[in-house]
Amino acid sequence: MTHYTDTTFVDASQHAIELEYRYGAHNYKPMPVVLAKGLGVHVWDVEGKQYFDFLSAYSAVSQGHCHPKIVNAMVEQAQKLTLTSRAFYNDKLGECEKFLCEYFGYDKVLMMNSGVEGGETALKLTRKWAYKVKGIAPNQAKTVYASGNFWGRTLAAISSSTDSSSTDDYGPFLPGVIIIPYDDLDALENTLKNDPDIAGFMVEPIQGEAGVVVPKEGYLKGVRDLCTKYNVLFIADEVQTGIGRTGKRLACDWENVKPDILVLGKALSGGTMPVSAALANDEVMLTIAPGEHGSTYGGNPLACAVTIAALQVVDDENLADNAEKMGLLFRSRMEDLQKQCNLIEIVRGKGLLNAIVINDTEESNTAMDLCYRMMHKGLLCKPTHGNKIRFAPPLVINEEQMNDACDIICEVFMDFNN
Ligand code: PLP
Repeated sequence: MTHYTDTTFVDASQHAIELEYRYGAHNYKPMPVVLAKGLGVHVWDVEGKQYFDFLSAYSAVSQGHCHPKIVNAMVEQAQKLTLTSRAFYNDKLGECEKFLCEYFGYDKVLMMNSGVEGGETALKLTRKWAYKVKGIAPNQAKTVYASGNFWGRTLAAISSSTDSSSTDDYGPFLPGVIIIPYDDLDALENTLKNDPDIAGFMVEPIQGEAGVVVPKEGYLKGVRDLCTKYNVLFIADEVQTGIGRTGKRLACDWENVKPDILVLGKALSGGTMPVSAALANDEVMLTIAPGEHGSTYGGNPLACAVTIAALQVVDDENLADNAEKMGLLFRSRMEDLQKQCNLIEIVRGKGLLNAIVINDTEESNTAMDLCYRMMHKGLLCKPTHGNKIRFAPPLVINEEQMNDACDIICEVFMDFNN
């Protein structure tokens, strides 16, 4: 790799990439595009080229880049008060907690920052509930997860991971973890009925990182029934699927089920800052007492102002309905493409969380090659697990933009085929 001094770099993109490579840990391998600006469904690179953002920061920027109402709420609050810690009360947290509880229908909420902290909070709540309410013997509580799950990068999260790139050389892992196949109610029932020490089942209603794996209809309802039957908490990780992404407020709403603990993150702040939350009713939430869990930044006034604005935008602009409509359009365009292009094995998804599975091995470079070609034509997306390309644009995308974006995808796939 060439090294540039401050005055000799050839172009701004190359310079930014080199800086990250030289001074940052190599824990990501980004697509070679350096973004400097975003608005709505578009982003621009440092050379001024415009792209459709079909990743939305892994579904965090659902309300579109730099939504003016969210940015305004952020700027206004930033000029008044940003952080108090929870050593003191602030005039925003209670307001935001009330808003979240009423919006999602729970007694209480515990606000954190990143999605993984939301998941970790859910797991800690589950253990407290296991000992204080369910009556499991000290230190014996177990939690069940589905294979292919992804809920972040902390040691607790990777202790339940089945992906070797997340786990290799990070052991030893957290005990009390049971992994069962995803979308398999028999496996869940067999596991729950044979082990009274199980406290919770944590599951994504659609597995995002695994490649947008949509379970069979009735799965979530079945999970709800089994968890109730065996007195086990149903923890829904809606960090990626929640807040309109799949065409309903929550992906669980598709089957009218209510998890015991709901974990949210990403779009809770419309992509402006890390905000996550675990919601539950009193029986679960009040098992944690003062001093037993927390975070300096969790529930800070800035996050609270932004969260209220971000959720209001989702309602005011009917983003869940738009996600449903635009998702149907996207999948119908991709299914038409599939008929003409044998590169596509599967088109799947719900709302605006979709994926194309490429007809090639996970180890092949075909999906990455396609993403590079789409990038050159002005559409950004990225493969997940080798041969799957996730398409998750901001939910504010309109029909014309969706058709233009689909034109780019179709052109790239058809060119690749020839
Ligand atoms: N849960 C799910 C379903 C996710 O997709 C992710 C991140 O992609 C997380 C949790 C972790 O969120 P964060 O990266 O904000 O910690």
